[in-house]
Amino acid sequence: MLAADRRAARAGQLTCDLLVVGGGIAGCWAALKGARAGLSTILLEKAEIGAGASGGFLGALMPHMPERWNGKKDFQFKALVSLQREIATLESRTGMECGYARTGRLIPLASDGARQAALARAADAEANWGSKYSFSVIDEPAGAGWPESAAMRHGAVFETLSARVQPRALLRMLLASMEDQSKARILTHELAPEIDPAGSARLTDGTLISFGHLVLANGVDAFPMIARLAGVPDAPLGAPVKGQAALLKTDLDPDMPLLYDDGLYVIAHEDGRAAIGSTSETEFDQPLSTDAQLDDLVARARVLCPALGDAGIVQRWAGLRPRAIGRDPMLGAIPGCDQVLVSAGGFKISFGIAHRMAEAVIGSITGQMTVEVPESFAVAAHLARARAAASGATPS
Ligand SMILES: Cc1cc2nc3c(=O)[nH]c(=O)nc-3n(C[C@H](O)[C@H](O)[C@H](O)COP(=O)(O)OP(=O)(O)OC[C@H]3O[C@@H](n4cnc5c(N)ncnc54)[C@H](O)[C@@H]3O)c2cc1C
Repeated sequence: MLAADRRAARAGQLTCDLLVVGGGIAGCWAALKGARAGLSTILLEKAEIGAGASGGFLGALMPHMPERWNGKKDFQFKALVSLQREIATLESRTGMECGYARTGRLIPLASDGARQAALARAADAEANWGSKYSFSVIDEPAGAGWPESAAMRHGAVFETLSARVQPRALLRMLLASMEDQSKARILTHELAPEIDPAGSARLTDGTLISFGHLVLANGVDAFPMIARLAGVPDAPLGAPVKGQAALLKTDLDPDMPLLYDDGLYVIAHEDGRAAIGSTSETEFDQPLSTDAQLDDLVARARVLCPALGDAGIVQRWAGLRPRAIGRDPMLGAIPGCDQVLVSAGGFKISFGIAHRMAEAVIGSITGQMTVEVPESFAVAAHLARARAAASGATPS
């Protein structure tokens, strides 16, 4: 928190057009887009920017498979395409870099059946991704030991839409961009425990923030808050899914495509380091610590990808992904609370879509809506799923 902002907060009352709760990737994009749209914006973060799931280092920006096209896949596709331009703009305005590159992704195929299915998907990709991005089956590794030849027995998918970014560097760049906006104010180490949906939030120190609109972008903590505000405090709107990842000191060619195999990602980053992720744990005792499951993942990565050699681990990290019920992101106003919107539940793809989620919530506040949001993302749709789950019916 900037010294001037701390003094203002201590004065007891703040007013803004837009209050964004949560300084992860979803909240930083929402606050920046709000300020850029001319809204006086306060970003409130209970710890540090990136203290939640967004503070990791994997950074895969990957699409869903191109078949059975639907609104969710379309939303994500358009987001992945537009992110490149968004990041170029941030980089040129801040003079900073965040290790973004569209390196594509390689997915070894486990059987002849998988190869045939992949070949069929090439036509779906052409129909749904257009001619700029390709999805093909290749038979040679992208480079020596990337991946091991045995993993390529049935070939591999190589698609050119996926990209990678350094999550922490992107957050630093978003923060610098916000600090550059006269309309934006960032309050860290400030928790919003209490929200009056009619337009105010009280911080733990008693400071009252009056807002025109509020965007809840507080990751896994958003679900119970949304349920309370919607008047169904016990609704199971979402749950955390723990993930663990490791960063290795290597000297890899950063142009190598992302490597994905059955939940395992190996990503060569710009600084020569390789990120390996991630576990997917719905049950855990220690949300933020790493354990033997990460060692197993790293061991798998070394087999899949001999190019890693015996590169040492420089960092181990764990975080909680926000997975909404039904797995779709949660976006838009809370029914009955028109001033309170949500941008949460990005689960495993937040870094690829958070800017577009932000565009949607800010567009609905300013009336300049440029983004088509699938109905399944609406908070009402999530509430219906939660009600169905609670009553034992099959969620739609
Ligand atoms: C191991 C791992 C690997 C991953 N890899 C990828 C990947 O390769 N690509 C990808 O796109 N995604 C990936 N993800 C998922 C991605 O990190 C998350 O989906 C994303 O970070 C969620 O962002 P968020 O802003 O919604 O939530 P968060 O980043 O969790 O941010 C929420 C913030 O809100 C703050 N907060 C909570 N309550 C309050 C309150 N009341 N007042 C003020 N502040 C509050 C928290 O401190 C936190 O900083 C990965 C996740 C993990 C764990």
